[in-house]
Amino acid sequence: MSMFKDIPVDVGVIYEGERIRRNDMQVELGGPSIKEKFELAKVRPLDEVEDGKTIILGPDIKDLTEGGAFPLGVLVEAAGSTLDQQLEGVIERRIHGYMNYIEGFMHLNQRYDIWIRLSKKSFQKGLNSFEYIGKVLYRLFKSELPIIEKVQITFITDPAKVQEMYPVALEDYEARDAKARGLKDEEVDKFYGCVLCQSFAPTHVCVITPQRYSNCGAISWFDGRASAQIDPKGPVFAIERGELTNPEKGEYSGVNETVKKKTLGEVNQVWLYTAFDHPHTSCGCFEAVAFYIPEVDGFGLVNRSFKDVTVNGLPFSTLADSTAGGRQVDGFHGLSIEYMRSQKFLQADGGWNRVVWLPKEVKERVKDFIPKDVVDKIATEEDAQNIDALKAFLKEKNHPVIAKWKEEVAVVEEAAPAEAKEEEGAMIPVATAATLPIMAGGFKIILKDAKIYAKKVIIRSMKSEKS
Ligand code: SF4
Repeated sequence: MSMFKDIPVDVGVIYEGERIRRNDMQVELGGPSIKEKFELAKVRPLDEVEDGKTIILGPDIKDLTEGGAFPLGVLVEAAGSTLDQQLEGVIERRIHGYMNYIEGFMHLNQRYDIWIRLSKKSFQKGLNSFEYIGKVLYRLFKSELPIIEKVQITFITDPAKVQEMYPVALEDYEARDAKARGLKDEEVDKFYGCVLCQSFAPTHVCVITPQRYSNCGAISWFDGRASAQIDPKGPVFAIERGELTNPEKGEYSGVNETVKKKTLGEVNQVWLYTAFDHPHTSCGCFEAVAFYIPEVDGFGLVNRSFKDVTVNGLPFSTLADSTAGGRQVDGFHGLSIEYMRSQKFLQADGGWNRVVWLPKEVKERVKDFIPKDVVDKIATEEDAQNIDALKAFLKEKNHPVIAKWKEEVAVVEEAAPAEAKEEEGAMIPVATAATLPIMAGGFKIILKDAKIYAKKVIIRSMKSEKS
């Protein structure tokens, strides 16, 4: 692109989705090892923004030790005579797309979860200053969102300054989210869709409704509306919601039609309020994962910044791998923290009455939105570190899922003896899934609409196999 002639590397959509491995990276900014990091957009009065200015507070890229990880804050201050605060979320989410256009520059996630890597190759080509990143962002903001008349960009790497601004950014996100609460899905004619993540997950479409925040937690229904209005050809678009064909599961005819079109027929049916059968697809930058725990017939929740293993022995990264890629995976569901505050949160699966475990930090954040009669019955890492401890905790607290265990036992007792069932060939599938990926001998085999039957299931921990 000629507008980037003075940038030492290429800039273009072809670099979206580019992954940079640890061995190939010059530096990492934010990411899992850095607690405080953020990106924030603010709309300011015209006279408070110096158009085209890039400010660097702290060491520049060339001064950062090769191979290291560093705190980063990105502040985009925009001004325009018709620009209002409502657009801050929209402007902020564009940072992700624009940074990913830069060759050898990888941007993942959003808000307080950003994770950036610069490749050694691009660094060696001369991409060694935030000045260049600022220039790219500036030009793309101005050309793609003409409503922005002035924009200045600040990169903060000074750890003390990042620490100082971090709580301010968190307050801003909360204020933005709080504004979007209260409106109900049934009260609007249009939902919004976002395909920004299709560069990483080609069959993913976020369906953003008033009560189902986007997976990344960065785009509310209001943000979606604003984005579609100011940039109708952009990645966010309106969805005529159509007829509500299943109020409990959240199935809308217009959503099905749009998702089918936008995924070229890969996904035909979406149920917005469940993690089973036809769940909303999961891209890769979801803030958290809901994962089904069959042993207790309940859901665990885990967010990206939770460092330990969860109650089923798996860390976030493994659960995220099972969830991501634009698929609909039964019982694995990518979602935002804000969706946990919604009355429609996993409504068809029992909502909070079905959640059995989540990190303490997340529980604190959403506590006021968990029904009072169940909040103390949901375990955190302090109450249960494995399934046995979880079962004991749930029993002791009389969590609502206990009633489901009793129901299941009663059904089994009433049914014919097991031998008789087998004779009739009435075997029960041990696993069902719309798409079930299996890794074997270096190959990935994907079974579509799979139901697996087995005479015997042997579950062995990987640890005991190795020893
Ligand atoms: S997670 Fe969804 S809303 Fe957020 S950027 Fe990706 S596609 Fe868009």
